[in-house]
Amino acid sequence: MSRGVFMSKKGSLDQLRNIGIMAHIDAGKTTTTERILYYTGVVHRIGEVDDGAAMMDWMQQEKERGITITSAAISTTWKKNQINIIDTPGHVDFTVEVERSLRVLDGSVAIFCAVGGVEPQSETVWRQADHYHIPRIAYINKMDRLGADFDKAVASISEKLGAKPVPIQIPMGSEDSFSGIVDLIQMKSLVWKSDTLGAEFEEVDIPQEFLARAKHYRAHLLESVAEVDDDLMMKYLEGEEITAEEIQRVLRESTLKNDLVPVLCGSAIKNIGVQPLLDAVINYLPSPLDVPAVTGENPFTKKIESRAARDDEPFSALAFKIVSDSYVGKLVFFRVYSGTLSAGQQVYNVNSDKKERIGRILRMSSNKREDIQEARTGDILAAVGLRFTKTGHSLCDIKKPIILETMDFPEPVISVAIEPKTKGDQERLVESLGRLAEEDPTFRVRTNEETDQMVISGMGELHLDILVTRLLNEFKVKANIGKPQVSFKETICKKVRLTEVFERQSPGGKRQYAKVVLEVEPNPGKGVEFENRIVKEKLIPKMFFPAIEAGVMDGTFSGPNAGYMIIDVKVSLVSAEYIEEESSDITFRAAASIGVRNAIGKADPIMLEPIVNVEVVVPEENLGDVMGGLNSRSGKIKGIKPKKGVQVIDATVPLRHMFGYATDLRSMTQGRATHTMQFSHYEQIAQDLKDSFLVGY
Ligand code: GDP
Repeated sequence: MSRGVFMSKKGSLDQLRNIGIMAHIDAGKTTTTERILYYTGVVHRIGEVDDGAAMMDWMQQEKERGITITSAAISTTWKKNQINIIDTPGHVDFTVEVERSLRVLDGSVAIFCAVGGVEPQSETVWRQADHYHIPRIAYINKMDRLGADFDKAVASISEKLGAKPVPIQIPMGSEDSFSGIVDLIQMKSLVWKSDTLGAEFEEVDIPQEFLARAKHYRAHLLESVAEVDDDLMMKYLEGEEITAEEIQRVLRESTLKNDLVPVLCGSAIKNIGVQPLLDAVINYLPSPLDVPAVTGENPFTKKIESRAARDDEPFSALAFKIVSDSYVGKLVFFRVYSGTLSAGQQVYNVNSDKKERIGRILRMSSNKREDIQEARTGDILAAVGLRFTKTGHSLCDIKKPIILETMDFPEPVISVAIEPKTKGDQERLVESLGRLAEEDPTFRVRTNEETDQMVISGMGELHLDILVTRLLNEFKVKANIGKPQVSFKETICKKVRLTEVFERQSPGGKRQYAKVVLEVEPNPGKGVEFENRIVKEKLIPKMFFPAIEAGVMDGTFSGPNAGYMIIDVKVSLVSAEYIEEESSDITFRAAASIGVRNAIGKADPIMLEPIVNVEVVVPEENLGDVMGGLNSRSGKIKGIKPKKGVQVIDATVPLRHMFGYATDLRSMTQGRATHTMQFSHYEQIAQDLKDSFLVGY
């Protein structure tokens, strides 16, 4: 594929689609994506295809080249339009990652299985997409499978997701007899030729046996578009012909507003229905021009600014995924929201406050990666050479700084101890953990000072599980893994002022001395802060201040109750004293560290535990059991709301009682209930529980 194919200089923004493909596991996301790439990326090769093995060959080659469809983003073209497909992680536990990928895409294809319809997992991702107002089209896949039921799958979209699905196609037959689709807008049948691997299809008149059903669905389609557009309503009521262009225009407007969801169908594995799906991506999903201008904070003025999706605006981009690539090293995937960027140019990374030079800019397409000289508004590309950029960082014009994403990642709430199996694995473990942490900011690594054990923390059981699996399989690290533990914290309840004198007499050496007066006080929601209240600079030389602050930070690292990290404490340096020749950075750092520890010990230190917000969507008949289950886990029910045949329970539960909840809920409701969990806040734990905790996580 030559460079010119992609958004050449003349390529306009309305010919660009940034889309995600969301699906319940096994619905056919991988197969459909592969087919999309096949019909788009290598379309020129299709004429050469003469046996069924060709497509598999092509897929195998892709894998060998290391460019798989699991790339964070992959670009392709369809009828002069560029489509960037952004990978959306399917795990609901990865809230931040899922949400960030939803942020960088403009529209999405939701794939459902014609047999299973809407499954619980798809509900969660669908609701997240609702939250971000992402326009969607639906593809009912696996129409060839035994038990395939198009009507039921469509009904489940409205019943379970509360959306308004509008079929723009219906299947011709189902299961073994599934042979093609009826296009309800053109009122034509599309029949695929199996000897070209589905690359070619014919448009024919609708066979008699499907005509009545097609008319019925066409009427529904016309009603749906007429309902949302006054002009079409008039025409519809007066029995005037509504043209295909009019239907498409109104469908597009309604899809962009999230009022309607166009529904298509097919069988990816049998190569039926993929090309019309691509047409629908272009026809109904937004281009970067259709979404509101991005907003962010100017880090200096703290004012909210916006950037329109135009090449002549200042450059702004969000780094949404870091991937270690075996060929080029660290790849930073970014979406350009405004302006342009040339390879070799400098950008400002607001989050790390560094100027960075972009080395190469790469576009990952289905069959190659290519160097791009200039990144333009709306595009999704990968950069090589960024040293200080992490996931979630904003990159922008040096003179026009803007932060597109506030970086308050939720604190990791679950930890697990990890140790190398042998001394030889130690280095590999440390290096691999470092790489994982770079890719995923909600994942942390620290060493427990007392046990010298490494502890990794993440957002949930599944999150850590997946990271550990990657560590063992992908990075080939041999390690022992402990049991997951909740990350407790410690804090204080009252203000205490304390004088700490550090005095040592080394044998035969000189005396060492430092004195600090410190005050500690509760600092709700603000973390650990340090304030230097010594105004009379002559008290001690200014050069000792950094050492005192470092000592304060040392002293607040772990709490007096059980060694957990301290949060929400303000430490003030009130006074200090030094003696020439006897005081040094070291003596001040030690005095501050010991002083803070002692002060915290006297300030009614308590232990805190993470409380999570839990939302359970449960069918009516299981409501009682699920409520009982939450109560037995010390949950507090905050509310119950009915929603289309289900009830939505809102509760807060101590995280330590949530282990194994997913399994429990599944067996309690035969898999019909779903839950989502999000960190809410820390709360004091009951004192009697305190003693039962291990020191150290
Ligand atoms: P993913 O988990 O959503 O990525 O799903 P995959 O694409 O891996 O597909 C899951 C399984 O369903 C695989 O065994 C596929 O071969 C199969 N599959 C995918 N699409 C179809 C289809 O259209 N019809 C049938 N019968 N099977 C399909």
